[in-house]
Amino acid sequence: LVARMREFGTTVFAEMTALAVRTGSINLGQGFPDTDGPPAMLERAVAAINGGFNQYPPGPGVPELRQAVAEHRKAHYDLAYDPDGEILVTVGATEAIAAAVLALCEPGDEVVLFEPYYDSYAAAVALAGAVRRPVALRPVEGRFTFDPAELRAAVGPRTRTILVNSPHNPTGTVFTREELAEIAAVCREHDLIAITDEVYEHLTFDGVEHIPLATFPGMRERTVMISSAGKTFSVTGWKTGWVCAPPELTRAVQTVKQFTTFTASAPWQLAVAHALTHELPWVAALRRDLQAKRDRLMAGLAAAGFGVLRPSGTYFVQTDIRPLGFEDGLALTRELPSLAGVVAIPTQVFYDRPEYGRHFVRFAFCKQDEVIDEAARRLALLG
Ligand code: PMP
Ligand code: GLN
Repeated sequence: LVARMREFGTTVFAEMTALAVRTGSINLGQGFPDTDGPPAMLERAVAAINGGFNQYPPGPGVPELRQAVAEHRKAHYDLAYDPDGEILVTVGATEAIAAAVLALCEPGDEVVLFEPYYDSYAAAVALAGAVRRPVALRPVEGRFTFDPAELRAAVGPRTRTILVNSPHNPTGTVFTREELAEIAAVCREHDLIAITDEVYEHLTFDGVEHIPLATFPGMRERTVMISSAGKTFSVTGWKTGWVCAPPELTRAVQTVKQFTTFTASAPWQLAVAHALTHELPWVAALRRDLQAKRDRLMAGLAAAGFGVLRPSGTYFVQTDIRPLGFEDGLALTRELPSLAGVVAIPTQVFYDRPEYGRHFVRFAFCKQDEVIDEAARRLALLG
């Protein structure tokens, strides 16, 4: 393995899911739902396969999906993207993020990112030979946020891009208009390109709405906006994502994407095009369900003795393990299967400076109510 990838062993998600399978534990680790997406969307995928839609689609993606993404961006955010030249379909958001970083960062360039961050970011930056400049998100009155001065201090002469994830995995923070305005101002002042990971764009709670960074003044022209179908339509295994960006940035990402995968799988693209056009009422119901599941899991975790932080979006709840007498989330999650028959994710693995996340453990609530209740019952034994 090349030196720049040696710090990346098996991802924590694969490790923890394998641990759950091996020990027969309830898996509240890896974030994937245990119910399927909208039936008509699933039927579209079957129909696409049976209808012979099985050969290479065009490199930028199936026209129906690019059109549907454009209409969705316009309807929800009043952002206009041309399906021919400003939208690119990718193999999930993961490929989009990697291709964007590889396309936009020279070796030695710096990438600012908010830690804790989704694990693929560090690997993408390493593949590009670029350098991470982390800005910490810290809990302030129960919500993870950043210090604007720390953000400004992280930007230097070699900073080329900033990676922004909101709604944020693993903290559940949805950046406010003020926080986003601060990020946008830094991007404009330092001529940065923003790469935004918005895969949880529809999964927000308590009336909190996701605001794309590209909607801020001067940002559309410098933002590579990324999302995917996995979370919105409960099909994390379909790995269908997309990039929306001005033509020059889209071309740059596509130049890399041509050689990472050339094109994304065909049948799912037709099905996702249908879903973006017709299934947003289904998504609204999913969002209400998830909010209730969040509350259900939060109540269970609080009853078990965890310190519980309320997320405004995503699939995840952060817990402080100190009230239970534990200090190290990594040690606790490795023992949790034998202590309680439950698997969770240690938040510290999402940090460059793990000490900041040492006392936190992430639990996923995108699970059936019976599963959440059984996990809560088991975790109650910890206290
Ligand atoms: N970004 C974030 C913040 C995620 O949580 C995930 C995992 N689902 C991804 C990107 C990857 O998305 P995809 O499965 O579409 O590649
Ligand atoms: N995004 C999911 C999570 O954070 C899992 C993604 C993965 O398995 N790589 O749990």
